[in-house]
Amino acid sequence: MTTSLGTGVAQHPATAPSRYASLLSPLDLGRFTVSNRLVMGSMHVGLEDHPGDVGRLAAYLGERARGGVGLIVTGGYSPNRSGRLTPHGAQAGEHQLAKHDRITREVHEADGRILLQLLHAGRYAFHPLAASASAGRSPISPFRSRRLTRAGIRRTIGQYAAAAARSREAGYDGVEIMGSEGYLLNQFLAPRTNRRRDRYGRTAAARREVPLAIAAAVREALGEDGLLSYRISLTDLVEGGQDWEETLALARGLTAAGVDVLSSGIGWHESRVPTIVTSVPRGAFVPLTARLREEVQVPVVASNRVHDPDLAERVIADGEADLVSMARPLLADPHLPNKLAAGRAGQVVSCISCNQSCLDKIFAGKRASCLVNPRAAHETELVLTPVRPRRVRDVAVVGAGPAGLEAALAAAERGHRVTLLEAREEIGGQLRLAARIPGKEDYGLALRSWRMRLAEAGVRVHLGVRATPAELVGMNDVIVATGVAPRLPELPGFTPQAAPPATGPQVVTYMDLLEEQVVPGERVAIIGAGGIGVDVAEFLSAAIPSPTLEVETWREHWGVVDPAERRGGLRGHRRPAAPAPDGAEEERDAVATLPRDGRRAREIHLLQRKDTKIGAGLGRTTGWVHRAELRRAGVIEHRGVTYERIDAEGLHFTEDGEARVLEVDTVVLCAGQVSVAELADELREHPTGRAPRVHVIGGADVAAELDAERAIRQAVEVAADL
Ligand code: NAP
Ligand code: SF4
Repeated sequence: MTTSLGTGVAQHPATAPSRYASLLSPLDLGRFTVSNRLVMGSMHVGLEDHPGDVGRLAAYLGERARGGVGLIVTGGYSPNRSGRLTPHGAQAGEHQLAKHDRITREVHEADGRILLQLLHAGRYAFHPLAASASAGRSPISPFRSRRLTRAGIRRTIGQYAAAAARSREAGYDGVEIMGSEGYLLNQFLAPRTNRRRDRYGRTAAARREVPLAIAAAVREALGEDGLLSYRISLTDLVEGGQDWEETLALARGLTAAGVDVLSSGIGWHESRVPTIVTSVPRGAFVPLTARLREEVQVPVVASNRVHDPDLAERVIADGEADLVSMARPLLADPHLPNKLAAGRAGQVVSCISCNQSCLDKIFAGKRASCLVNPRAAHETELVLTPVRPRRVRDVAVVGAGPAGLEAALAAAERGHRVTLLEAREEIGGQLRLAARIPGKEDYGLALRSWRMRLAEAGVRVHLGVRATPAELVGMNDVIVATGVAPRLPELPGFTPQAAPPATGPQVVTYMDLLEEQVVPGERVAIIGAGGIGVDVAEFLSAAIPSPTLEVETWREHWGVVDPAERRGGLRGHRRPAAPAPDGAEEERDAVATLPRDGRRAREIHLLQRKDTKIGAGLGRTTGWVHRAELRRAGVIEHRGVTYERIDAEGLHFTEDGEARVLEVDTVVLCAGQVSVAELADELREHPTGRAPRVHVIGGADVAAELDAERAIRQAVEVAADL
């Protein structure tokens, strides 16, 4: 049992257990030594933009330092106004950094080290002051950037140096220059975006001038003790990106200019190859980092889907990298390093790379958090305090989906006596089903972590038990987290069948399908194209085995090649996507060139009543990947339909004013959910002497737009109030 969830994990013991010996070993970076090889990579959480949030930011970063992270890199701060990501975005100005000593003090008090990241957005800036190597607009931005003049370039170099000097005054241990992901410095380096004819363009050496000049100026501004890290793009994954020789020449130039550490960046934001979503194989890009390491004399950092501590340990032990960068895993579990050091790896809260509460929030202009850890970036607001011994309550949690699991854990970790009852033989609820979708294999990590954490927190778990009010007598609190059931449209024939009928399609729910209670036919219609409809379409069409599990297949699948073989690291010629007026991602052109590969031969129809694009409600950072997969798999989309009935002929509906019949073998209902919360009503009506307090959370509370993030946050909030 912990004493406080904020800081309740033991600090490093004197000796690290051997399983993570390499990962947890200290490393001399030249300017100072870090306590282990774990770097918290830069990730904007939205607290960087407002100087008034500095206390929250200090709490957020301080908790990661107390959790044992050796080196933290902040979210990106622009060196000047035009480089801000958004009109009021973070800038390393005098006013904005004025109180950052609170942040650096918190981190240093926990024996951590921290770098300020300097990020100039270039043509990715979401405002009219955007400036880049050449004038133009990226496919993902609504604003056209102006071309930096030579005087503008000189000014920008000076502003980088001034920002670096200010970072030292604020107590930072150095800076990281963001030179990857398609931001300004990448824009200078790649022929795709640098069309200058002056001394900063035309040849690869000239395109390197600005990044090298900035590195040299920052090096000087940092002073002897200040560490300089540079995030270098190892493969741009865009047409007209850099080639490997250019990357190596840049790396050598940077180290000669005084860069101490090279951190791996992969892909530009406008790339149409996914680089961090859950379907990207773990460690897919580590081989590039390993190749860089052979060529330079400074420590290198591996990144992108190196989430798994065992993989991270292997990467360090095998000499593929000197450090490993994790950003989202440390949002999910700030105490990850200390848990590894204490031999409690099984207790690590696993990031599932869903992007739902972190990156998707940021792209929507909101503060980030984490689906599996709602306290992330909300440390000062969502506080879980230990309960006093005489206030310990008997708490029953009914339902072991994400909401119930988190409620049980949070209540138990506060010190309450908790019993968790689940009608099925397995925990996980809807997330258990999600883990069965090809490309979402990592969702299973969350299930594993929940099991281990329940055991350590002392929660009594009863599986295969359908709770009734009688069984809950004597409880002080009952948290009803009984989840949802599939919504069944009230139309003729839209009734699930346990077995295929003699004629006509078998109607099944998505739960029956994903639980493999039914065998789908060769022709399938999916009713509803929300998150689950899209998942089901992928489940039915994905290649087997899932490319996520085989990195070579995945590379082939997305057309990724060695950047030494082809500039930009992409196979074949791709036309850059057309600029989208609203800044939305446009995948159509790129998808048209994607290879078709071996799929199960199945005709799949995906239908929705709305006229919007399929999967419009999916996350910004993940939706385009799913839509690309569906198009590639040849899934047939029907939008703006009106359903009529299902009978022996098939599925009857109207599309574009025309009556149609789909002669399919299986109809899968993915039409949303309804709450299952009868237990709450029964409890409230049950005539017991000591009625428990009843709390209804998650899908049982609100099924519309069933949302694991909301469910988990609500669970922790309820537990915090017990
Ligand atoms: P959802 O996203 O709300 O989609 C439900 C679908 O059912 C909609 O496409 C809706 O489209 C249709 N529908 C609703 N009522 C209907 C009715 N009476 N008859 C026929 N069709 C009806 O819900 P979900 O797909 O069940 O997903 C649940 C939650 O999990 C969502 O918040 C979703 O975003 C999330 N999720 C996300 C992902 C992901 O990000 N990849 C994956 C899985 C789940 P029309 O009304 O236009 O027909
Ligand atoms: Fe990981 Fe999802 Fe949490 Fe982001 S929201 S840190 S991707 S689990």
